Amino acid sequence: MTSPVFRFAPSPNGELHLGHAYSALFNRRLADEAGGRFLLRIEDIDTTRCTPQFEQSIFRDLKWLGLEWETPVRRQSEHFADYREALDRLIDAGLVYPAFMSRGEVRARIVEMEASGRPWPRDPDGAPHYPGDDRHLAGRQRRQRIAEGIPFAWRLDMARTLAHIRAPLAWSEAGSGPQGETGAVPADPGAWGDVVIARKEVPASYHLSVVVDDALQGITHVVRGRDLFHATAVHRLLQELLGLPVPLYHHHGLILDEDGRKLSKSRGDTTLAALRAAGITPADIARMVGLA
Ligand code: GLU
Repeated sequence: MTSPVFRFAPSPNGELHLGHAYSALFNRRLADEAGGRFLLRIEDIDTTRCTPQFEQSIFRDLKWLGLEWETPVRRQSEHFADYREALDRLIDAGLVYPAFMSRGEVRARIVEMEASGRPWPRDPDGAPHYPGDDRHLAGRQRRQRIAEGIPFAWRLDMARTLAHIRAPLAWSEAGSGPQGETGAVPADPGAWGDVVIARKEVPASYHLSVVVDDALQGITHVVRGRDLFHATAVHRLLQELLGLPVPLYHHHGLILDEDGRKLSKSRGDTTLAALRAAGITPADIARMVGLA
């Protein structure tokens, strides 16, 4: 047996907060208990929101917490060729299509449908499914629109893709989902509709880069927040399409604020930097997240 490999994979688009501290410390603890390795991965494909300053603060905060990780750290923005290759395979298989509708067009389409009394399907995060009008464009029309410079994203043709999959998909869950799902969990990627697989400028989306990297890095245990539980269905689907190994999953609870809301990067109150400045110690943090 090769040794287990765990990873903590933050995005440098804001300061780390208590929820990240919990996830990182929990990963490290599980890795140590399993005699495994612990990797840090910087998920910075969104080059408009990620900055080197936030990346530096991730390193600083994690070191302050007492964490150590293997180097070199994989930085997704340096590996677009890997995602491009996976994207090309999906394009060649005819499973993704260039989606040209703007946000406004999508909204208008949904308002129109819902006005006629038909409820519009929504994904597990509550976002409306992409209407997919341009799923059926002819190759010539697609090439013409791309040549005209119309912005687009590569989306998975979910119905066609599911028709491709022979056995039902599932994953092994050592933590739990929002409804207490655990053990062998059936994956329902169709609930997401035509998900974005890549953008015009960046040959990846979160879903694509995470499955490609988990495979390339030999990750055996994905330990992350419960907010990503349902996204695992899309990850299982992509692993199946790309022939990638399937890690074990452990979705953990989220650290909530006093009002019971999930902590967010946009509200600065519980950032590790702010807590440190207020005199809180790493040992206090471990206690606050229940990992002392
Ligand atoms: N980069 C993601 C985030 O910061 C985590 C991805 C994952 O753990 O799969 O929310």
